[in-house]
Amino acid sequence: MSGVVEDENVHDPRRGFAGGYHLELASLDPGPLALMGIRYGWGRDFASIMNNYRNLAGMLINGEDLPRPDNRITLSTTVKDKHGLAAAHVHIEEHANDIALRSHAQRQGQRLYDAAGATRTVLSATPPATHNMRTARMSHDPQAGVTDAHGRSHDVPSLFISDGSVLTTGGAANPTLTIVALAFRQADYIGRAIGAGDI
Ligand SMILES: Cc1cc2nc3c(=O)[nH]c(=O)nc-3n(C[C@H](O)[C@H](O)[C@H](O)COP(=O)(O)OP(=O)(O)OC[C@H]3O[C@@H](n4cnc5c(N)ncnc54)[C@H](O)[C@@H]3O)c2cc1C
Repeated sequence: MSGVVEDENVHDPRRGFAGGYHLELASLDPGPLALMGIRYGWGRDFASIMNNYRNLAGMLINGEDLPRPDNRITLSTTVKDKHGLAAAHVHIEEHANDIALRSHAQRQGQRLYDAAGATRTVLSATPPATHNMRTARMSHDPQAGVTDAHGRSHDVPSLFISDGSVLTTGGAANPTLTIVALAFRQADYIGRAIGAGDI
């Protein structure tokens, strides 16, 4: 199953939130279904969903959650990984805009399935972040971001950051191609900077 619905991928404040989302049709394999099961408590209701697996269609909401300064990854002071390094502590709180966007997307998804003749639509639990980005956001202003537009650190000019952390917003699309495009652009920039003796 594949397909992407982009109709809601616009900024239209009349919907009650900023930014947009796209809907991805997705087969639901046991991993996502297990996440969904948390919401249904693993009981009879969840079993009925699994029993109808052959007639199940899935849809993912890919929305633009707003960047929040308080959402961050810090190093744990107590937990260490198997290499003895401090474990990452991921702190996420949803913005009211994220909640409004998601409920709109859930309504639209339900309407889409209703129109297709679905006999039942179930909402899943919200998984934790999968697009981990924006922890070293780019900005012309060193006070507002870690790197410049080419991923070059404001504090350490010989340091270049080439991953999803430099994105300023998650956007409403999958990020990998943007990350790759930025890396190519950065490579060109580094080449020119070396040629000009700037590095
Ligand atoms: C379940 C899931 C589904 C996704 N689906 C999609 C999708 O369909 N389309 C899409 O565009 N995006 C998708 N994404 C998001 C996408 O995978 C990420 O945004 C993207 O891979 C981030 O790229 P990155 O280069 O920033 O980081 P990563 O791809 O995470 O690369 C970081 C690399 O650094 C390495 N590393 C970490 N620590 C060290 C260290 N100390 N020393 C050396 N190396 C180290 C890691 O091993 C890793 O290879 C998905 C993500 C998840 C989790």
